[in-house]
Amino acid sequence: MFALAKVKQAAAVVGRQCWSVRSLRAFSTGHSSSQHGEEGNDVYDIIISGGGMVGTAMACSLGCDPNLQGRKILLLEAGPKKEMDKVPEVYSTRVSSISPGSATLLSGLGAWDHIVNLRCKPYQKMQVWDACSDALITFDKENLQDEMAYIVENDVIVAALTKQLQTLSDQVKVQYRTKVVKYTWPRPFQVADSIPWVQVTLANGCTLQTKLLIGADGPNSMVRREAGIPTIKWNYDQSAVVAVLHLSEPTENNVAWQRFLPTGPIAMLPLSDTQSSLVWSTSHHHAEDLLQMDEESFVDAINNAFWSNENQSDLVEAAGSLFRHALSVLMPNGASSRQLPPSVSAIGPKSRVMFPLGMGHASEYIRHRVALIGDAAHRVHPLAGQGANLGFGDVVCLTQVLSQAAFNGKDLGEMQHLLVYETERQRHNLPMMAAVDLMKRLYSTNVAPLVLLRTFGLQATNALPPLKEQIIAYASK
Ligand SMILES: Cc1cc2nc3c(=O)[nH]c(=O)nc-3n(C[C@H](O)[C@H](O)[C@H](O)COP(=O)(O)OP(=O)(O)OC[C@H]3O[C@@H](n4cnc5c(N)ncnc54)[C@H](O)[C@@H]3O)c2cc1C
Repeated sequence: MFALAKVKQAAAVVGRQCWSVRSLRAFSTGHSSSQHGEEGNDVYDIIISGGGMVGTAMACSLGCDPNLQGRKILLLEAGPKKEMDKVPEVYSTRVSSISPGSATLLSGLGAWDHIVNLRCKPYQKMQVWDACSDALITFDKENLQDEMAYIVENDVIVAALTKQLQTLSDQVKVQYRTKVVKYTWPRPFQVADSIPWVQVTLANGCTLQTKLLIGADGPNSMVRREAGIPTIKWNYDQSAVVAVLHLSEPTENNVAWQRFLPTGPIAMLPLSDTQSSLVWSTSHHHAEDLLQMDEESFVDAINNAFWSNENQSDLVEAAGSLFRHALSVLMPNGASSRQLPPSVSAIGPKSRVMFPLGMGHASEYIRHRVALIGDAAHRVHPLAGQGANLGFGDVVCLTQVLSQAAFNGKDLGEMQHLLVYETERQRHNLPMMAAVDLMKRLYSTNVAPLVLLRTFGLQATNALPPLKEQIIAYASK
């Protein structure tokens, strides 16, 4: 639990920071930069549109930042407030693998302790293997006491952040069940009806104004669409079936399993000693079948997907074992041993749900007075469990940039510093998205030459611990 200790330490530091800022605020003269707009409406410094995991984290992060104290910040969320004093007995089907980097952010915001108190499962190891060959790769921390990542229910993350946001209510206002229906962009050069700020029109008819609009409104972002930001996107030929799984017998359950089938990856992520979460990406047609079949057939299909060798060919098998042998001679300490995944005995009640999968990337994350974060800026296939983590990375970067701008007395909506955010995040997000998309394509086939290519690639990577460490470090951010 060394990593958990580090996370707690970080929480304590930022918690102290938030506390001292709150104490300071009590003594401050409160120089809010609130102004009155043309029509007498309050002008916000920052409005965040969308209070999912990423938007709510953004609101907390801005609310905690000492340089942004006294600024007027508003979070708008179309859905209801998500509160949770204690977790429901039944696990939610929507879970995320949270990287140590994201855990550090959540910890710094004071939300990690709530998550740990509610429910979260750390895991120490990951095994990824190919259904068309014997190739496998394992990732584990050198010190097995360290967590590789944590499986947390999405509702738990939002509830923990919401709880923390309540402690920042002087700093950040929140409106739930409030849908934005229109954005009107600044028209600085039209003197007649010039509006220097972004106007946000709500479904209840109210109009608000803001110097900076942060779009955290998910993959179908209205902010992105209405700002006319070009987006590269496509739908995959796959849907993800998610479910809560009951294991045949209790185990330590500290390994995340993922097997690449020709139809798509199937993953089993630990929730507790006896339960795991399923994310099975497969053809739309097969996904429909999986939703319709009776429970026993569904459980058989899952066990078969993890255990069956029906997709393996003699040719690939022979070439793969020769290559493995050669690698073991060259790098005797490189290979890691294969573990067997637990078998599944049942599924949770009414737990099967399906999501169509796609990829999307906004070619610009910013415009004058606008910034996109989370799935509004980028949407990835869940095979690497990176979507929310990339969004939390955006939160860290945008907070730093805005904090610095506020410290320097700059207008928060200016392009100059927003460009720093865009450059830094695109530099991180794009290679990750390209790698995830390439893996999706490389593994969506059982054509022998490609199977051989990926078999050699996976085996070679598995035999090179320094390369694996680099991969872990990159995915942990
Ligand atoms: C099957 C599956 C498994 C996944 N597994 C992982 C994983 O293991 N790890 C990981 O990191 N990621 C994972 N992801 C990705 C992750 O779920 C997303 O990246 C994440 O949920 C995006 O969060 P967000 O806050 O950006 O967007 P969203 O969750 O889409 O939130 C957007 C919010 O904006 C609100 N909103 C939208 N429009 C408006 C409006 N007009 N007015 C007001 N509010 C509005 C919505 O109500 C919503 O609350 C997975 C995704 C899938 C599909």
